[in-house]
Amino acid sequence: MDLKFTAEEEAFRSEVLDFLRERLPQRIAETVRNGQHLTREDMAAWHAILNERGWLANHWPKEYGGPGWSAVQKFIFENECAIAGAPRIVPFGVNMLGPVLIKYGNEAQKRHWLPRILDGSDWWCQGYSEPGAGSDLASVRTSAVRKTDASGDHYVVNGQKTWTTLGHYANMIFCLVRTASDVRKQEGISFLLIDMNTPGIEVRPIITLDGEHEVNEVFFTDVRVPVENLVGEENKGWTYAKYLLTYERTNIAGVGFSVAALARLKRAAQHVTRNGKPLAQDPQFAARVAKVEIDLENMKTTNLRVIAAVAGGGVPGAESSMLKIRGTEIRQEISSLLRRAMGPYAAPFVEEALHEGYEGEAVGPDEAASAAALYFNNRKLSIFGGSNEIQKNIISKMILGL
Ligand SMILES: Cc1cc2nc3c(=O)[nH]c(=O)nc-3n(C[C@H](O)[C@H](O)[C@H](O)COP(=O)(O)OP(=O)(O)OC[C@H]3O[C@@H](n4cnc5c(N)ncnc54)[C@H](O)[C@@H]3O)c2cc1C
Repeated sequence: MDLKFTAEEEAFRSEVLDFLRERLPQRIAETVRNGQHLTREDMAAWHAILNERGWLANHWPKEYGGPGWSAVQKFIFENECAIAGAPRIVPFGVNMLGPVLIKYGNEAQKRHWLPRILDGSDWWCQGYSEPGAGSDLASVRTSAVRKTDASGDHYVVNGQKTWTTLGHYANMIFCLVRTASDVRKQEGISFLLIDMNTPGIEVRPIITLDGEHEVNEVFFTDVRVPVENLVGEENKGWTYAKYLLTYERTNIAGVGFSVAALARLKRAAQHVTRNGKPLAQDPQFAARVAKVEIDLENMKTTNLRVIAAVAGGGVPGAESSMLKIRGTEIRQEISSLLRRAMGPYAAPFVEEALHEGYEGEAVGPDEAASAAALYFNNRKLSIFGGSNEIQKNIISKMILGL
């Protein structure tokens, strides 16, 4: 196992850095670095820049528009992007649905939907979770009943999805729906693509702890969906759903995001003072920063170890769960330390500080205004993509054999 990058990989890193210097809009990078929210237009603009270069769908095979990168190249690209302050690629179309269509979609679906993901014609959202079906996802109850009438074959969908991230921006949603209930629950699920503009769909906002509108509830009442929008076979959706989840957890460790956040924390600890000295010189605070840095270095090595195993023909199994747990714990710890570093200045909850152009009265260090909101927002990391407790269950089954 060789964990060092080769000369070619280092050359690739330089190419990525040049690209980021030339093409990443500084205004957007600044917004990301300040932990502020991006607009729909900002996210779409970054997608378009990556797509123009052919680097948007870096998990896709070349024949569908991917760049044909190795696992190591993807790792380098994603980390350098995060460190430079590039927005994360909105994952629902590119990283989740795309791989499912490539593996399980029919030719017509691939020809129609994949180019539209790349050029941004469609904004997808993920309709998996329901009230009562989160960790226990196979319990989904939203029903799809197949009907035939004069205008053709279609499904009629009724039910509710929840926690639908950026559903208010989306024109398409991929859903797990129940098409059979007299079988084992995993065997009665289908994977359906639904146009959000179909009559009978209602999107309602959920406002999170940080005051933001990021997630939604989506209600379906007698929604008509053409049968052509079924992916793969009816009642085989659980297989496709699980395949998608392995992609959702890929790179969820977010090493680059932690590296960037740690650098911000260290900068803050230099200019924030306690008892007349920089906070970085406070032994207790410095020890916590050192611990999280060591954890991050360990995680980087584990991440590279997994990549080396994949490059050698292996498959990431429970390791992606390990990376998910450690990666999200580290990101949460860094945001917690930043909040602590701000001391009493983090106490006023300034929701507006999460938006670009905030020019509120400066109280305390620059990082103070967004510290609390960022801390709250990062609580989600250990819940979505399969909660950390569920990842521990996976590890205990797959690694410890319990
Ligand atoms: C910000 C955010 C964005 C999200 N975006 C989306 C999205 O776009 N699309 C989508 O479909 N879903 C999305 N989700 C939903 C997410 O996948 C679920 O919240 C998650 O799977 C947990 O499900 P739940 O909320 O129903 O909690 P529950 O499943 O009710 O779990 C509650 C608690 O019990 C624990 N628990 C449950 N079962 C077990 C068990 N067997 N062993 C040990 N502990 C257990 C959990 O870890 C958790 O701590 C999002 C969630 C959040 C917070």
